[in-house]
Amino acid sequence: MKKFIFISGGVCSSLGKGVTASSLGALLEGRGLNIRMVKCDPYINVDAGTMSPFEHGEAYVTDDGAETDLDLGNYTRFTKSHISKINSMTAGQIYKAVIEKERSGRYQGRCVQVIPHITNEIKSRILAVANEDADTDVVIVEIGGTVGDIESIPFLEAARQIIHEYGRKNAISAHLTLIPEVGGGELKTKPTQHSVKAMQEIGIQPDVLICRSPEMLDEETRQKIALFTNVDLDSVFTCRNVDTTIYEIPLMFFDQKLDQVVLKKMGVESRHANLEPWYSMMERHRAREGKVRIGIVGQYVDLHDAYKSVYEALFHAGVECGVEVELVKIDSSSLEESDNADSLLGSAPSVNGILIPGGFGKRGIDGMMRAVAWARKNKIPFFGICLGMQVMVVEWCRNVLGWADADSTEFNEDTKHPVISLPEDQGTMRLGLGESAAAAETHVFAAYGKSQVWERHRHCYEFSNKYRADISGSGLKISALTADGGLVDCVEWPDHPWGVGVQFHPEFKSKPTAAAPLFRDFIVTAKGISG
Ligand code: GLN
Repeated sequence: MKKFIFISGGVCSSLGKGVTASSLGALLEGRGLNIRMVKCDPYINVDAGTMSPFEHGEAYVTDDGAETDLDLGNYTRFTKSHISKINSMTAGQIYKAVIEKERSGRYQGRCVQVIPHITNEIKSRILAVANEDADTDVVIVEIGGTVGDIESIPFLEAARQIIHEYGRKNAISAHLTLIPEVGGGELKTKPTQHSVKAMQEIGIQPDVLICRSPEMLDEETRQKIALFTNVDLDSVFTCRNVDTTIYEIPLMFFDQKLDQVVLKKMGVESRHANLEPWYSMMERHRAREGKVRIGIVGQYVDLHDAYKSVYEALFHAGVECGVEVELVKIDSSSLEESDNADSLLGSAPSVNGILIPGGFGKRGIDGMMRAVAWARKNKIPFFGICLGMQVMVVEWCRNVLGWADADSTEFNEDTKHPVISLPEDQGTMRLGLGESAAAAETHVFAAYGKSQVWERHRHCYEFSNKYRADISGSGLKISALTADGGLVDCVEWPDHPWGVGVQFHPEFKSKPTAAAPLFRDFIVTAKGISG
């Protein structure tokens, strides 16, 4: 029998439901169970592809090219579970599917309603994930939003129905709440009591409560919460605010026996727990020495979540290389004054490496050009990702090849040297997993230890093949092509310690227990140079 765990949240948003769901997933995997993860997003957008990174953070891209909520990135970082299009759904997708069925006559003239039509659509998608793979033991379903939101109701109702139909031994509810601290450090349980009441009104009795709190809850507070909420005392857990890293949370839950309680509730025999990779990762984290300062020159630096996977990948690389990575976030527009690049990047303490992440549109591009030129001339390790690679190519053409008007047609359609452009025969976007072939004796080959590289893409524009010969003839190394040789995927500076631009997004596959190879080598080089 497959098991289901529904993760919901109450009191307020941003309590870390994604990290909680992922951490529980990591613990169950540590016990040898095969898990799958699902994210339900109550917003009406059909996917995250069109949502502003300023408002909603990055769009996380899966192998099969879905542009999803950034929690799917957490699932990938914390667990081994396979993530694809079917692991995320939005209210927009659900309504769109139901309306399309209605228009094509599939409901045979019946009145189409939230219950059962919308809820059935949600349930069938959750069950599709459970049934995709015969080996799946547990499906963890995270329901976005906060209990009490109008938008979350159909998803919670679908959860209620599954819990009822499968029985509470097979489907459980884990509810995340906040224990705020008021006055002189007093912890307040009332919002949690109210939040559980809101769940009960919907017809769901939480089996497990996870309370986000500034400190570990004492026995007395847990007893009080248990008494008011009908939750067993041994099922009230703390998610303490961490000042180290979110990757400490699986072990924090393990110490409180969260996984044992969950397994017992679902009637799964407890198995030996192997959390060695998590312990050794935390060991390496504690043993880090020194610091490297990495300048992130981007369009969306004001919102941390906009480059979430990039920042996480830098952190993973730091853990693997034994050094703390300090993020120096620089709004690329601020480098547009001629002398700002030198003073912002070069004045002590100078950055030890520059990374330009992905982005869209013209804003701040001239500032990026300055940062690229500065890193190239001063031999500072440089990593350009997607837009970052495109800017690296344009900068080379302008300043080394001497084509002053070289540009991407995304920024200037009329340039005489459209070195980055829209290929005529490509659909709207190169999206999802693609194979690249790295040339021997390049940083890309060295990082992966082989020629065959599989990474995910999300871009419309490409290095223009018309200029391939001129550009490589002038010294810019083309270090990887697509497997069929049709497109340029990676470039590198000659006579430079580490200057690499990649058209794909290696950050999406990085994990705390296995840093993405290119991020690792970028940090290794930056660390070496910083002494
Ligand atoms: N705007 C560029 C393109 O569409 C880069 C996209 C990105 O960085 N993800 O090709």
